[in-house]
Amino acid sequence: MSRNEALFERAVRVIPGGVNSPVRAFGSVGGTPYFVDRAEGPYVFDADGRRYIDYVQSYGPGILGHAHPKVVEAVVAAAADGTTYGAPTEAEVVLAEMVADRIAGLESVRFVSSGTEATMSAIRLARGATGRDRIVKFAGCYHGHGDALLATGGSGVANQGLSGCDGVTAGAVADTVVAPYNRVPDLDETVAAVVVEPVAANMGLVAPVPGFLEGLRAACEAAGALLVFDEVITGFRLACGGATDHFGVTPDLWCFGKVVGGGLPVGAFGGRWDVMEHLAPLGGVYQGGTLSGNPLAMAAGRATLELLDADAHARLEATATRLADGLAASFTGAGLESVLPRVGSLLGVFFGPTAPTDFDEAQAIAGNGMYPKVFHALLERGVALAPGAYEALFPSLAHDDEVVDATLAIAADAAAAVAAELD
Ligand SMILES: *Cc1c(COP(=O)(O)O)cnc(C)c1O
Repeated sequence: MSRNEALFERAVRVIPGGVNSPVRAFGSVGGTPYFVDRAEGPYVFDADGRRYIDYVQSYGPGILGHAHPKVVEAVVAAAADGTTYGAPTEAEVVLAEMVADRIAGLESVRFVSSGTEATMSAIRLARGATGRDRIVKFAGCYHGHGDALLATGGSGVANQGLSGCDGVTAGAVADTVVAPYNRVPDLDETVAAVVVEPVAANMGLVAPVPGFLEGLRAACEAAGALLVFDEVITGFRLACGGATDHFGVTPDLWCFGKVVGGGLPVGAFGGRWDVMEHLAPLGGVYQGGTLSGNPLAMAAGRATLELLDADAHARLEATATRLADGLAASFTGAGLESVLPRVGSLLGVFFGPTAPTDFDEAQAIAGNGMYPKVFHALLERGVALAPGAYEALFPSLAHDDEVVDATLAIAADAAAAVAAELD
C-alpha cells in the first residue's frame, strides 16, 4: 500500500471522509486524495514523493506560490514574538491601512479568521445597519458555510450535489432569496443586502455579463439595500484594488479572505464608515474573535500584499492567458470540446461548447462526466487541478513560462489519452 493510501485509511477512521473540508475529498472525481508532505512555489509533493504542478494553491491564497521566502520569513519572525495576545497590535493597523489604501471606497475594515466569518459578519452588519431582514444571493455563488448563505451554493456544496444542507433550519434561510446569476433581481424595501461574487469562481468560472454589476449597484441604490461584494477570491487577485478596480463598480461592503491572509487563516470585511460604525464597540452589531487579527496571519498578509503591485498582476494575467489559451489548444487538439473562460488571472475550464453564464448552464456542463476523466489523466502525469468541476484554476506568480509550458505538454498528452479512451 502506498503512503497516500495508508494515510487515507487512517484519516477516514478519525476524520469524517478523511478530510477537514469536503472540497478536498475525491467524491465527485473518484479515487482517494493525495496527502501533501510539503510544497514549494508552483509544486506540491505528496506522501509518496510525487511532484505535482499545483493549480489548487489552497483554492486561492497561494497567489505567490507555496512557501514564498518572504512570507515564511515574516511568519517565523512573528511567531518568535508570540502567537496571540488578546490585545491589539501594530501589525493589524498596518494591514488594515494596506487594505484601505488599495480598495477605493473602503474606509474601515475588521479582520476575522476565515472567509465564512467575513460573509456571516457582513450580512449581520447589513441587517443591523438597514434594519431589514432579507438577503439576496445568487445560485452557484459560494459564500462560506454560514447557514443563511449556503442555499444553492457552489464549490463543495455543488460537488456534493446538494441544493441545501441538512441541519440548516427553515428559519435560518427564511430571509434568504436565491436569484439566477447575471440577472438583476427585483428588490423591495425588505432587502438588507445583495451578496454577490463579482466574478463567480465557485461554479467553475462565470464572468459577470456587461451591466450585471452596474445593474446590481443601481437596484440596491433604488431599494436602499446594501451591495456586498464577496471578494474572498477576487480580492487582491483581479487587480490591486480587486473587483472594484477591475469593473469600476463600488459596493457598500466588501468581504475578503484567501489572498489577504497569505496562506494563514484570515478573512476581513469592510466598507464605508457610515456602515461600519454599526459594529460593536461603536454600535449594536456584535462580532468578535479570540484569534481575529492574529499576529502570524497579519504578518503573512502584509508580506503577500507587499509583493502584489500592478506589475505582479500584469505578470499573473499573462500567465493565466498563456495557460488558458494553451490548455484550450491542448484539449481541442485532442478533439475534446472545451472552453476556458478567463477574467484577469482567474480562469476556469468547462468541457462543453460555450462558457456558462449562470449555475444551470454551469451544472449542465460540469455534470457531463468529462472533468473527472481529464482530472485523473492530468494528476497521473503530475498536474493537480481541484478534485471537482466547480473550482477555478489558480496559477500563481511562481508559475513561470517554463512551468506553464510543462503543464501544456502534459495536458496535450492527458487529453489524447482521454480522447483515446472515449473512442
Ligand atoms: C472560499 C470562499 C469563502 C469562504 O472562505 P473560507 O475561508 O473557506 O471560510 C467565501 N466566499 C468565497 C467567494 C470563497 O471563494
